[in-house]
Amino acid sequence: MEDLEKDLKKIKDEVVSCKKCSLYKGRYLPVIGEGSHQAKIMFIGEAPGAQEDKTGRPFCGAAGRILDETLESVGIKRKEVYICNLLKCRPPGNRDPQEEEINVCTSYLERQIKFINPKVICPLGRHSMKFLMEKFGLRDAIEPISKIHGKVFESNTLFGLIKIIPLYHPAVATYNPNMKEVLKKDFKILKKFT
Ligand code: URA
Ligand code: SF4
Repeated sequence: MEDLEKDLKKIKDEVVSCKKCSLYKGRYLPVIGEGSHQAKIMFIGEAPGAQEDKTGRPFCGAAGRILDETLESVGIKRKEVYICNLLKCRPPGNRDPQEEEINVCTSYLERQIKFINPKVICPLGRHSMKFLMEKFGLRDAIEPISKIHGKVFESNTLFGLIKIIPLYHPAVATYNPNMKEVLKKDFKILKKFT
């Protein structure tokens, strides 16, 4: 196995047996992430929902259908990107992720980012946006997602320049269909990074 495959497999094995926060108690399956290990674009959602918890796959329920439709609208294949979440286990009743859960779980996400080494990271929704902008030295640029969705931020890392493009969480379009057009407009910018 290549080093990258080994590194990602190790994360998977650790997450499967992880009990670092109480969310392990209510999960059926943890959701590690899926997609191309050579992806140039990485999408980072919030946490698994009911459907994801059942299948172990990210974004496979209602929000996932919107993500798929939006990707398709700009000609990006789901299998050419990498998709994962801030938290790997489902919060009860899909409540917001808690600070302590984010603090203990995101070491997995940080390793996924380091190993996949994408050119562009798209946080989906405000929790993921906050964590990633803080992590990449963009704390001062944080504003409500309604203001900065679709904007391109740049950060210099040890591994080179990375772009952070905050996007609305696709679930917003499940209760407000007008948001589909906003998502599609924002996603257009991603095509040039594929
Ligand atoms: N919402 C998320 O944030 N992530 C998923 O995987 C599914 C729904
Ligand atoms: Fe571990 Fe993260 Fe699951 Fe908590 S949410 S049990 S830290 S994998």
